[in-house]
Amino acid sequence: GWIGLALPEEYGGQGLPKYIAQPVNEMWLSSNLAFVMFAALAQGGSEILLKFGSDELKARYLTQIVTGEWTVAMALTEPNAGSDLGALTTKAIPQTDGTYQIKGQKIYITYGEHDMAENIVHLVLARTPDAPAGSRGLSLFAVPKYRVNEDGSCGEFNDIRCTGIEHKTGLHGSPTCSISYGDNDACVGELIGNLNQGLMAMFVLMNEARLSCGMQGVGLSELAFQKALQYSQERLQGAGSDGQRVAIIEHPDVKRMLLNLRSESFALRSLGYQIAALIDVAEQSKDAETAQAAEKRIALLTPIFKGFATEQANELVGDAIQVYGGMGFVEETGIAQVMRDVRITTIYEGTTGIQAKDLLHRKIRMDQGRCISELMADIRDVVEKSPDSVVNQRLGQVLNQLAHVLDSTILNPSAELAQLDAVAVPFLNALGGVCCAWQLAELALQAQVSKAQDEVFFGNVVALAEFYSAYKLPQAQAALTTVIEEQNGVGNYEF
Ligand SMILES: Cc1cc2nc3c(=O)[nH]c(=O)nc-3n(C[C@H](O)[C@H](O)[C@H](O)COP(=O)(O)OP(=O)(O)OC[C@H]3O[C@@H](n4cnc5c(N)ncnc54)[C@H](O)[C@@H]3O)c2cc1C
Repeated sequence: GWIGLALPEEYGGQGLPKYIAQPVNEMWLSSNLAFVMFAALAQGGSEILLKFGSDELKARYLTQIVTGEWTVAMALTEPNAGSDLGALTTKAIPQTDGTYQIKGQKIYITYGEHDMAENIVHLVLARTPDAPAGSRGLSLFAVPKYRVNEDGSCGEFNDIRCTGIEHKTGLHGSPTCSISYGDNDACVGELIGNLNQGLMAMFVLMNEARLSCGMQGVGLSELAFQKALQYSQERLQGAGSDGQRVAIIEHPDVKRMLLNLRSESFALRSLGYQIAALIDVAEQSKDAETAQAAEKRIALLTPIFKGFATEQANELVGDAIQVYGGMGFVEETGIAQVMRDVRITTIYEGTTGIQAKDLLHRKIRMDQGRCISELMADIRDVVEKSPDSVVNQRLGQVLNQLAHVLDSTILNPSAELAQLDAVAVPFLNALGGVCCAWQLAELALQAQVSKAQDEVFFGNVVALAEFYSAYKLPQAQAALTTVIEEQNGVGNYEF
């Protein structure tokens, strides 16, 4: 029942809120990202079938997927279609019985082939013969490895072959496969949702997948923190003021690195949980306006969270290795595996560059800055709850700078697109820093109220907010300075 924690009871799930499932998912991600990816795929695939699948498709696949008897593979990427899915060429040829013959090659398909489950349900993005060019001509199909008999049992092999397994930098426990569909013209798929609306269905999944990917960053940062903390408490090196040897955690610079890990993962976790809670509101609220407001906030926060959490996780794991010293560079401590595994998180589910363009153009410019203004107003409310605190004053200053950058550059109708694209990632990073500082400022306010219950824990929350605003928030200010800098060299350098 763990895979289906937040999936409907009628298909074997537990029907709990996403807000409950998210912390559980995070613990899984910390413990073994490579293995747990199959559970994330099952959750995402189920969401697609629930939202877009016919009753027949739901009845055929959902219970087996939610209960983990069958696994799911998402088959989008092709050799010539990665970030630009509109370029994909896998064909779906309509048959007289209403099914489609699927034919084409996909690459990098996570859990595309394995023998851990009786069947693998591939959700394949493909193009019908008369489909419009580009991303508006993509449709989504359910393509099982074994066709499903009337009684629900697995039947004939469906002409899906694994043509290779990648040798990767990390995630060695997760098979990343090249898959050939329909070599013998015998691969049958069924349409999910409407023709040519496959990308829309995938976007539903992508929002959740991007949230889940951001949580991978949080989970691996937490793992790195716990490992580095333990090592720093055991390793004796250097001396204290009394001349006695000390554990390295006594050195302020080691504390700084640990707090870097702790504050960022604490803040990002809070942001990730907030998005999960917003998904619950969007899905469950009876009030249409409330649900719509939640959807808009999710759409804005998702690229920020995915991009920033995964970029930060890569830096943070680097810090954890630094805490280990030379032992961080040898395999036996296990921290090197975290470094290898975390590297992919900024690439799949849309690279950071793609998240940044989505944020800047679709979520902010096309919206004429409405959602971002509402977010900034909410952050300002937190700042004003305790205007004398240093943490809030620093956050207030960055908000002012952000407002100026939005007016002068990001929302400026005459801004040059190439110039904006060149600063999209620094802009995403700035917003990531602001959102994390906001989360910590709010948690610090609550910590002040609850302090009497647990002086050490809540005192530490306040210290994390102070640390973040002193060490990390200035990085957001620096990124905002980059965003408005017209002479940044990007357009002038000849490669
Ligand atoms: C371990 C692993 C697991 C994966 N699992 C799956 C899976 O299960 N299913 C699946 O379908 N795919 C999967 N993928 C594929 C993954 O989603 C793609 O690798 C990713 O989307 C990037 O595509 P690409 O590799 O073709 O890179 P490219 O698209 O070639 O990008 C290369 C670089 O160019 C930049 N770039 C490209 N286009 C633009 C643009 N328009 N604007 C700005 N910058 C741009 C990118 O940001 C990046 O820095 C997986 C990949 C890996 C490595």
